[in-house]
Amino acid sequence: MGIVADRLSVVKPSATLAVTTKAKEMKAKGIDVIGLGVGEPDFPTPKHICDAAKAALDKGETKYTVVAGVPALRQAICDKFKRENGLDYTPDQVTVGAGGKGVLFNLFLATVNPGDEVIVPAPYWVSYPDMARLAGGVPVFVTGKEEDGFKIKPEALEAAITPKTKWLVVNSPSNPSGAAYTEAELRALGEVLIRHENVWVISDEIYEHIVYDGFKTPSIAAIVPEIKDRVITVNGLAKAFSMTGWRVGYAAGDIDVIKAMNKIQSQSTTHVTTFCQSAGIVALTSPMDFLKERNDIFKARRDMVVSRLNAIDGIRCRVPEGAFYLYPCVEGCIGKTAPSGKKIETDTDFVSELLESKAVAVVPGIAFGLSPYFRLSYATSTEALEKACDRIAEFCASLK
Ligand code: PLP
Repeated sequence: MGIVADRLSVVKPSATLAVTTKAKEMKAKGIDVIGLGVGEPDFPTPKHICDAAKAALDKGETKYTVVAGVPALRQAICDKFKRENGLDYTPDQVTVGAGGKGVLFNLFLATVNPGDEVIVPAPYWVSYPDMARLAGGVPVFVTGKEEDGFKIKPEALEAAITPKTKWLVVNSPSNPSGAAYTEAELRALGEVLIRHENVWVISDEIYEHIVYDGFKTPSIAAIVPEIKDRVITVNGLAKAFSMTGWRVGYAAGDIDVIKAMNKIQSQSTTHVTTFCQSAGIVALTSPMDFLKERNDIFKARRDMVVSRLNAIDGIRCRVPEGAFYLYPCVEGCIGKTAPSGKKIETDTDFVSELLESKAVAVVPGIAFGLSPYFRLSYATSTEALEKACDRIAEFCASLK
């Protein structure tokens, strides 16, 4: 009998870990590794938000708060939903947790019974399936094919629904593909969901503000009002406000679900750090002028890297609507042999040989449930991205 609980046996060790560990080892040896694996903006948290946290500390905001988050923050979240998403929620329908991840964890644990099915469109953010499994659920994958812009079709959703289905996870714009659903696409999925009253929806909108070419992220709860009562809308400050380390995420929806999530939080983290909540109020109630400049930089990088990758023999890359990831296909490299003599049979082989021979770290598609692809984060300097593109091109040219 080991010390580790049986429930962990269903959780897969992170497929990204091998690459990260190897990249770290290479860096420690003094090798100039370009890391394109991270999922956080390379911009600082805006100053007015940092100042708000400092002011909160100076005012002594260092004690416990209520579990769901201070009322002023939950009101600011309701105002945000009304203003930006056309969604009406009351503060008791809102919970604030330790990042989007903390909120999602509470949500799965609060609602998933053993054997409940959770439909996860692939390619997916790595945490959804494992959170579902930890809660005793069964992830059911539906592939959003590259030719469909990595988005799932209503027919495929319909086919995946069973009497055991509890949740559909919608993540738009998506990590890892950057793909985002239009209003019409969400409405088409909604038509299926209207017919299946047992299915609830988690709408993870954490990348909503990181979009390009005039795209506006629609919220499924607003586009399909018939199912609004069955949608839990999840968001957070990490990505739009460059606040990954602050751990402020939130969710809104059915009051019984929110209460159940708060019950779990009351027995785990209790609440989000008090002065981070105060800073969160300022983040949500202040102008977001910094965003346009940052998105313009992201867009220039996206366009540069996509065109560089598409010029490489063996790689093909779709232009995503949002987030700061690309999900290039390496089908054209499969079956070739790397300079080391290793035959590239999978995206994992591609990624590890690229790291070994050219010191560029990206994440293999297998980690996100769709191969043969890799995920590249362009939330890093343009200079590093240009260098990485040179190296990827050299690597692909070296394959025989
Ligand atoms: N949802 C998606 C799709 C993400 O990519 C992430 C972070 O990478 C999160 C949620 C959670 O973000 P955080 O916990 O930092 O708020």
